[in-house]
Amino acid sequence: MRKAQFKGSKQIYFVATCAETPWITAKYTKKLADEKHFEVLGFRSILMPQSYITGGLSTPDAENKKILLFAEPKIDELAPQIKAGEKIPEEPLGKSWMSTITNPMMYATMMSAKKFAVSDKCIGCGKCERNCPLGNIHLIDGKPVWGKNCTQCNACIGGCPVGAIEYGKKTIGKPKYYLEK
Ligand code: SF4
Ligand code: SF4
Repeated sequence: MRKAQFKGSKQIYFVATCAETPWITAKYTKKLADEKHFEVLGFRSILMPQSYITGGLSTPDAENKKILLFAEPKIDELAPQIKAGEKIPEEPLGKSWMSTITNPMMYATMMSAKKFAVSDKCIGCGKCERNCPLGNIHLIDGKPVWGKNCTQCNACIGGCPVGAIEYGKKTIGKPKYYLEK
């Protein structure tokens, strides 16, 4: 957001997906909005399936489907409010102190792509390379190679169409959530 050029309205909404609570995300986004001189008209979080498989967290497909069904009416309610330019009341942020403590620790110790590995199942489709929001994956001789700029979004491991990616041993045999477009 700091690097992006924005044109048009100076009013802004934030919609965040999360697997538990948004914790401190709303505060971070407001800070960024202030830097960019935006007026924040609302922040809302939408509960989505747990995708942090590299952190050992995953939920079965059946549970994920229920979470998605619950999210849809929330999105349907929110979209017209945003379209109409309405101010959206603040929602409770949950344990924001947890993020303050855990975020720096997690980034210092856990946000690494070192343990990613690809198996012989790989068909060289390049989806993992295209999916990575940080451009951290490059196909070399038809197989993915990970760089050092990883935020553990898990789009590579979750989105692989043949389940060829694992993260050490802890992801083997676990459900890897990814929402296709
Ligand atoms: S998405 Fe999977 S199959 Fe496609 S290149 Fe990456 S690891 Fe290989
Ligand atoms: S897709 Fe996400 S988890 Fe995979 S390398 Fe890129 S940033 Fe890391």
